[in-house]
Amino acid sequence: MEKYKLPSLPYGYKDLEPYMSEEVLTLHHDKHHAAYVNAANALLEKIQDARQNDTGLDYKSVLKSLSFNVAGHILHETFWQVMAPSSDGAGAPEKKGKLLKEIEKEFGSFERFKTEFSETAKSVEGSGWAILAHHKEHGALAIMQVEKHNVNFYPEQKILLCLDVWEHAYYLDYKNDRAKFIENWWNIVNWKEVEKRFMGE
Ligand code: MN
Repeated sequence: MEKYKLPSLPYGYKDLEPYMSEEVLTLHHDKHHAAYVNAANALLEKIQDARQNDTGLDYKSVLKSLSFNVAGHILHETFWQVMAPSSDGAGAPEKKGKLLKEIEKEFGSFERFKTEFSETAKSVEGSGWAILAHHKEHGALAIMQVEKHNVNFYPEQKILLCLDVWEHAYYLDYKNDRAKFIENWWNIVNWKEVEKRFMGE
C-alpha cells in the first residue's frame, strides 16, 4: 500500500540558485522528503497488517511517528510549491491581490509581516518551520512556529506559506547562518501560489 507519493519538483534542481543550491535541493527532495514518504507508508502498512490479522499494536508510538512523517511529507509538498525561481517573478506579492490586503490588515504592513515571519523562523528551537496559515471561518491569518513537523500546530488552518528551517534545508549553503538563509529565501517565494492557496484554488 502506497498512500503517499513523492511529488516531483515544479522546477529544476538548479532553478532556485543562488539562494538554494542544487546540492541542497537534490538531497532535501530526493533523500529527506522521500524518507518521510517511505516512513509514512511503512507505518500505514503496519496499521493495515494489525487490522487484517486482528492483532494489537503500540498505537501510542506508531501514531506519534505517523503524525511526524505525514506532517513532514505534507509540509515538504507545500514547501516546494510555494517556492519558484526568482527569474519567474518570485519574491514580490501580487500588488492587487486580496492576500496582500489581508496581510496589511492583520500585520499593519507587508514589511511587519516579513519581520514577524522571519523572527519566527529564526527562533525555532532546533528543527521546525515557520508557517503562515489562514482559518477561513474565523477570517484570521496567523503565523505558527512548528517544532519538528508536527508540534505546536493548531487545527483547521490552511497552510499558505511555509519555510523549512531544519538544518538540512540550509546548512550546506549557509553553515550555521540561519538568518542569512531566511533573508535570501524571500527571493524565491512564489507569491502567485500563496495567493492561489489563499483564494482557495
Ligand atoms: Mn526539510
